[in-house]
Amino acid sequence: MPHNSKHLCHPEAPSAEGPLLRPLPKSRLLAHEISQYIPGGVDSPFRAFNEVGGHTIFFQSGSGAYLYDVDGNKYIDYLGAWGPAILGHAPPSVVSACQAAIAQGAVIGASHESELELAKLVCQAVPSIEKVRFVNSGTEAVMSAVRLARGYKKRDLIIMFEGCYHGHSDSVLASDKHTSSSGIPGSFKQNTLLVPFNDLQALKDCLKAHTKQVAAILIEPVAGSMGVIPPKPDYLEGVRQLANQHDALIIFDEVITGFRLAYGGAQALYNVTPDLTCLGKALAGGMPIGAYGGKKEIMDRLLPLGDVYQAGTFSGNPVTMAGGIETLRALANPDNYTRLEARTHQLFEGVAQIAKTFSSPLQLQRVGSMFSILFAPKPVTNFQESLAIDAHKFAKFFHALLAAGINLPPSAVDAACVSAAHSTADIDETIKLISQALKSS
Ligand code: PMP
Repeated sequence: MPHNSKHLCHPEAPSAEGPLLRPLPKSRLLAHEISQYIPGGVDSPFRAFNEVGGHTIFFQSGSGAYLYDVDGNKYIDYLGAWGPAILGHAPPSVVSACQAAIAQGAVIGASHESELELAKLVCQAVPSIEKVRFVNSGTEAVMSAVRLARGYKKRDLIIMFEGCYHGHSDSVLASDKHTSSSGIPGSFKQNTLLVPFNDLQALKDCLKAHTKQVAAILIEPVAGSMGVIPPKPDYLEGVRQLANQHDALIIFDEVITGFRLAYGGAQALYNVTPDLTCLGKALAGGMPIGAYGGKKEIMDRLLPLGDVYQAGTFSGNPVTMAGGIETLRALANPDNYTRLEARTHQLFEGVAQIAKTFSSPLQLQRVGSMFSILFAPKPVTNFQESLAIDAHKFAKFFHALLAAGINLPPSAVDAACVSAAHSTADIDETIKLISQALKSS
């Protein structure tokens, strides 16, 4: 989801929805009716097209690289459900494993062998995770990891980075420079410090100003919600060194990057080891999941062994575990990552050719299969620079593509995702439609 207030509460949200090329009568009716029952008609705010204007579409189903709306239109999808659909929508092996699991009881409320199986797979895939806990969303994973870090270190402060998104728990929404919300007590704000991403000096100064008070540095190793922003060379190593010097933990929020950038996540790609890692999205092939894990010594501070509380009725439920096991079994085959890289490379090569002839500057930013097409004058490396992204131009582009049958995140800044189900023909078609959309933007 797009996560900074600038993009969320854009004063004049662009309404770039052009003439409807595809009939959407049922979507329109449902949108009207649902808004009488659900605030804004959505269960998560960015689904409401706030940033791009116009009306959200009701989808009926997804299969592989495609989505189908309630009016029978087909789309090539790059929203990827905001990250989980790494194998495409409704991957058959995940569907049948979940069906078999649900038939045996969707939730047991006690230990289940599938928890062990998925835990082993996660620990094998991500070596910095010696022990793991399963929860139900990325938000829960980060909230719990932050509490664990604070409890383990017996310190209150955490440092996070402007423009990074970590879900909607109070501690990580506490800054008003970034994603903001009312309803969060001021004391939370005082305990969450913010520094710019990709700026080691700023982190160094912040740690120095709060010596022996910082429990953890919470970071997205690749930022995914202010344009896809890779870490500068040696930046993550520098963060690791500073954390060591100041006796603070590092929490990698790999809710998007985990199992997407590599089987071992961004930490494998950049070869930097965090103390705790948060996972979610791609881990369970579409089933709602979060997970956090790390060093045994830290994880064993959780109840029932230690003094840090975290619990959940649905945590580790057999259906989600089955989805996770099948997803990781599939992703353990490196061909998937070769394919994800090849398809995203193909897409970016094609779009780069088109961008040369486009009148405004476009920044094509990607790491692996996470990508963003930014209407910005120069490459975006931090939140401040992301403010230069032209949300109006993006809105026109987004709607032109949607009308032509390409579904992107409805946000100028959020990561789009290629899946292992996209074919070279899908990518060729996408490049052609992007070329047409840019001409009309
Ligand atoms: N961390 C990151 C990096 C995310 O991108 C997100 C979701 N976009 C979250 C945490 C929160 O995950 P969830 O939406 O599953 O609560």
